[in-house]
Amino acid sequence: MKWKQQLNGMKAYQPGKPIEEVQREYGLEKIVKLASNENPYGFSPKVKEFLESDYTNHAIYPDGYAQNLRTAVAKHLGVKETALMFGNGSDDLIAIITRALLYPGVNTVMANPSFSQYSHNAEIEGADIKQVPLKDGKHDLPAMLDAIDENTAVVWVCNPNNPSGTIVSDEELSEFIQKVPSEVLIVLDEAYYEYVNAPEFKDTLHYVNEYPNVLILRTFSKAYGLASFRVGYAIGNDEVIAKLDPVRAPFNNTILSQKVAIIALEDQEFIKECTEKNEKGKKQFVEFCEKHNLNYYPSQTNFILFEVKTDSDVVFKEMMKRGFIIRSGNALSSPGYIRVTIGTEEQNEEFLRLLEEVLKEQGVFA
Ligand SMILES: *Cc1c(COP(=O)(O)O)cnc(C)c1O
Repeated sequence: MKWKQQLNGMKAYQPGKPIEEVQREYGLEKIVKLASNENPYGFSPKVKEFLESDYTNHAIYPDGYAQNLRTAVAKHLGVKETALMFGNGSDDLIAIITRALLYPGVNTVMANPSFSQYSHNAEIEGADIKQVPLKDGKHDLPAMLDAIDENTAVVWVCNPNNPSGTIVSDEELSEFIQKVPSEVLIVLDEAYYEYVNAPEFKDTLHYVNEYPNVLILRTFSKAYGLASFRVGYAIGNDEVIAKLDPVRAPFNNTILSQKVAIIALEDQEFIKECTEKNEKGKKQFVEFCEKHNLNYYPSQTNFILFEVKTDSDVVFKEMMKRGFIIRSGNALSSPGYIRVTIGTEEQNEEFLRLLEEVLKEQGVFA
């Protein structure tokens, strides 16, 4: 058949292993998944209450414009309703952006390692991919600026970055945005926005008004704990949103997911509690790394990328045997490292106790 030639040799996204598969494979009863940066506390109890008494008629199509959710998010952020576009997760928005702007002959600039979907989608569209290595674990914005040329259509800034968890400061970002040519779309992927507390990170919404080529992505999948409902959104200039919207599938969020996202958004107390607990959990990992002299990246997210001083695939396997699913750095262009989602206090404690055992077994330390 007449496939797009760029599909030759491409593989589907390799997600963290599903819990059921690991249970079967290793005959384990209890498995903790710390691989995909989901919220270990789940979602707001108000969402649970709603789901238990839900009467939604799923026989009818959802509102393709997501009007009620749109009103709620616009009000929450203090932006116009027309500045928003909803996606089936921000993954969907990344695909929409790529499909709208990338094709053979144009290029796109991103950091490496960064979120894999930018390059994956760009590859499908046949665009050239310019990956700029992180510098000290952070986006090297000056080098990314240098990589932009007259054929660049999109530049991706994952802030905080997945998998390193690091941020670029508002000062660095502001300088970068000023210098990027106005015909290049700057995507600020802020999937972990709710977790950030560093003072050098500032709210970016104002950039959308000042620079029409800035588009922000946020999601209900991480801090809001709604990964399975698939709701992400873009905040952008009206004209950018209007250009992207025809590329969107007409009913890309379900009725239920739209309802649930509204309820979750209202419960900011839950987000506050989760992010506070996450801070404490992060400290457990940082203390472990410092105790054992393992390099780690300062994380502003609910995950941490740190050194294991041995083959990351081995650590990944050994931890899986012990009931923990994590991500090997080998799968994230970070060999010798592992990326672990910050779990509950007990999960972290148990994880680090077992990791210590594994690293001793591997001769990393005595
Ligand atoms: C998880 C993640 C996403 C995708 O989130 P969804 O809204 O669930 O599609 C996007 N960007 C980054 C950096 C992520 O880590």
